[in-house]
Amino acid sequence: MKRGISELDEKTVHSLSTNQVVVSLAVAVKELVENALDAKADKITVTLVDNGVELIEVKDNGSGISADNYDKIAMRHATSKLQEFDDLEAIGTFGFRGEALAALGAISTLKVFTKTADDEIGSALEFDQYGAITSHMIKAQSSNGTIIRVENLFHRIPVRRTVFKQNAKREAQRALATMMSYALIANARIVVTTKNGRSMKTEIQTRAGDSLKGKIASVLGGQISKEEVIEDHLQKARIFKFNGFISKTDSGGRTSPDRQFFFVNGRPIDAPFLSRIINQEWRKVTSKKYPVVVLNIEVDQSAVDINLAPDKRTVLLQNQKHCQFRFRILLQNIWGATERDVVSMTQL
Ligand code: ADP
Ligand code: MG
Repeated sequence: MKRGISELDEKTVHSLSTNQVVVSLAVAVKELVENALDAKADKITVTLVDNGVELIEVKDNGSGISADNYDKIAMRHATSKLQEFDDLEAIGTFGFRGEALAALGAISTLKVFTKTADDEIGSALEFDQYGAITSHMIKAQSSNGTIIRVENLFHRIPVRRTVFKQNAKREAQRALATMMSYALIANARIVVTTKNGRSMKTEIQTRAGDSLKGKIASVLGGQISKEEVIEDHLQKARIFKFNGFISKTDSGGRTSPDRQFFFVNGRPIDAPFLSRIINQEWRKVTSKKYPVVVLNIEVDQSAVDINLAPDKRTVLLQNQKHCQFRFRILLQNIWGATERDVVSMTQL
């Protein structure tokens, strides 16, 4: 049967597009932590119950959400961060697409508790799958900030829910790895706790004012931070400034590249274009498998495209080849240099 072309109705469009935003537990948790950081929280507590299958809760002491914005919290493309596309070049927040809470509302049971400094009392809000408020109650909440609860993630998408439950343990590990990257870079105290059955575990814990080195020790463990860190500042690089820590060739290395964290201007990203180079150069100087890396690239904001994918983990640098080239030289300097040279480099 031949049908005419017609526009999809609003609700169908809402479901189709929101279902693509949060595709994993790791993305769900990442979006909530980013929102807390954007709200200028300096303490963020994440709890995963039953590997996130039952509940994800993110509590922050940030700005809170004011009452006149409640009805837009879970609306699609509703954001307090970006006004027009041209602003994106200078955006200073993690979020700007106004999609995460709409997506979480569409695929799970979303509850928001919030209180601003101007509010005398907090609010507890619930939403339907299209982002409309279904319940608004006042709630005695002494501290300012926001708690977001995501219950039964993916329960409106049965296939995704089933696969998530089957792989929940691995998904929770991925989410923890994502949290590690925020714990390493954020200027906030981040605590991540898991509750599985009766067992409660603090998985990640940092202090707000810690240096990167201190955070590496807290997040990646004392053993790693003791063994291998080299600080590298390549002051001569004009376009890119690399800053971070990387294994020494005489350190243990790891059997998998699971401790390689990359950031562009403090934003956690996936950087296969750099990890490839790291692992190549590493193999030239040692037979140990993979180094640990925590690397932030500072680059002019206008030379990076962060909007390639909804999760913003993939970025495009205007001078990516040049960046790779500079970074390879930097690695060769570090790993090829004698111990004394390395020390003097850190003092540059
Ligand atoms: P985005 O982060 O892209 O703006 P979201 O869907 O993640 O979109 O969030 C929608 C809006 O809800 C945000 O712009 C912000 O105003 C508000 N918001 C969400 N989470 C928090 C939070 N933890 N604290 C304060 N405001 C929040
Ligand atoms: Mg957001």
